[in-house]
Amino acid sequence: MPTNDSSTQLASIADRSAELLDFVTDVLTRNSAREEGISEKLQDIEGIEELHALLWDIRNLTYALGKGDLKYACKSKGCVVGALKTLQANLSHLTWQTQRIANGEYQHRVNFMGEFSTAFNQMVEALDENVSSLVRLSQKYKEMSAKDPLTGLYNRRAFESALMGILEDVGKKEFHASIIMTDIDLFKKVNDTYGHASGDTVLRAFAEKISAMLRPHDLFCRYGGEEFVILLPGASLKGGMAVAQRLCRGVEGMAIPIEGVEIRITASFGVSSFVASLLQSEKRNMMTEFDAAVKRADDCLYQAKNAGRNTVVCEKGDAPA
Ligand code: GH3
Ligand code: MG
Ligand code: MG
Repeated sequence: MPTNDSSTQLASIADRSAELLDFVTDVLTRNSAREEGISEKLQDIEGIEELHALLWDIRNLTYALGKGDLKYACKSKGCVVGALKTLQANLSHLTWQTQRIANGEYQHRVNFMGEFSTAFNQMVEALDENVSSLVRLSQKYKEMSAKDPLTGLYNRRAFESALMGILEDVGKKEFHASIIMTDIDLFKKVNDTYGHASGDTVLRAFAEKISAMLRPHDLFCRYGGEEFVILLPGASLKGGMAVAQRLCRGVEGMAIPIEGVEIRITASFGVSSFVASLLQSEKRNMMTEFDAAVKRADDCLYQAKNAGRNTVVCEKGDAPA
């Protein structure tokens, strides 16, 4: 039988154990977020302060994680806290990776979150694939809208927008540039005699011939129908005239085989020149100059047609200085 003293002691131990259990349960289950101190009855238990701190850390960290707040600085240690901290670090890393993916860095993969990793990686791969095919498609459409499908040359709209880039490639702020307008002579007759499809073949052959005779930084474009425009950056009027004459002789020398016949063509050329200035203040002026130079080259082309075709007419007379 226990003595009176020992039964008092046992009652006190039972009482404090129940209080301790209440304290632990209370920290882990109470709805109120207010942190309460250690009750008087428990204060002399060894390690009670550390247990109190640990339980509140676990509670606060779990709450923060539940709300998606990844900033809670947990000072405690141990396996439960360790697992929660790992989850916190993983979620932080995942947040960073998601931001990188949002920046278009689709090479990022997650490998530390089990089933979630698999789903996340599948999402990133699908995103990467979809974005890549969209980029490919938009490049294709951009090219299609910039190029003439028959000859593969720039169309008129793309020519004007490519113009500035080409001029900037020259690397000088101010320089001469020549414009050549050319049009195949009596092309209607080609269509009428050999058919429209053969006319297309002739147009392609003409475009290939001229392209092959130009320098890489010259800009050649199908301006409309069988009318073409060439920009020669850095070429004076005299230089432009020489190029046009060379092209005229080149076209005259072509023999285009179609259905067993060799079709021969000629073309007429009009040449003008302007000063390209890439100085910021003069860029708008330059576009006006460019448009005016195209118009003058077109007028010269008209004169070349009137002069009997298969010839070159240059603005300011046929023999520029
Ligand atoms: P000129 O020497 O005065 O230039 O005479 P032309 O017969 O060439 O007259 P014009 O330049 O006015 O005629 C152009 C013809 O080019 C009319 C049009 O049917 C034809 N054409 C325009 N685009 C194409 C095309 O893409 N394919 C084919 N086959 N023909 C085209
Ligand atoms: Mg013509
Ligand atoms: Mg024409």
